[in-house]
Amino acid sequence: MAKQMNYQTLREVFTRFQASEPEPKGELNHTNAYTLVVAVALSAQSTDIGVNKATEKLFQVADTPQKMLDLGEEAVIEHIKTIGLFRQKAKNVIKTARILVDDYDGQVPNSRAALESLPGVGRKTANVVLNMWWGHPAQAVDTHILRVGNRSGICPGKDVVAVERAIEDNIPVDFQNHAHHWLILHGRYICVARKPKCKACHINDLCQFEEKTE
Ligand code: SF4
Repeated sequence: MAKQMNYQTLREVFTRFQASEPEPKGELNHTNAYTLVVAVALSAQSTDIGVNKATEKLFQVADTPQKMLDLGEEAVIEHIKTIGLFRQKAKNVIKTARILVDDYDGQVPNSRAALESLPGVGRKTANVVLNMWWGHPAQAVDTHILRVGNRSGICPGKDVVAVERAIEDNIPVDFQNHAHHWLILHGRYICVARKPKCKACHINDLCQFEEKTE
């Protein structure tokens, strides 16, 4: 695990990320807070592209919890059967819709605890929703951020919670809102798992990874 980068280096890293992508966006399609919750929950162990394909028609017919209940589990299965774990995910989508209608007046709650209590919504999903919909500087750490953070020293930590804490504690607050997306995009397209593209990397000179590729 790399050592935690110091303040000045972190400022430089995020200044460069910001210069190359001033307004980074998530890649999961959604039309409101509810469809964002569903899309992020469906994306566990699936690609955003695969989820977007599956939800394109689903969200046309069911973009509220009540409409999802009216649609029913079997129809949800039909829509999402191209993505991994679709049966369990469909079950959770319906259970979540039921809870939102019964306990939250059909609205999506905006506290981490309330979000995490929904079936199929874990800490990561809750943080994505808090960040993307409500602009809260919540740090949803996924496999990309875990890898990038530990290789580079941007936010090292032994698990997702430690990495989340490293981001919150060390990254200057003016970069916190977009930190999640910059790190994900960096991990998805440059600092990829098997052979990171170090030559094309904007932060090559600041990164501590000892096995940089040529
Ligand atoms: S230099 Fe290589 S290892 Fe370091 S952040 Fe860039 S791509 Fe990742």
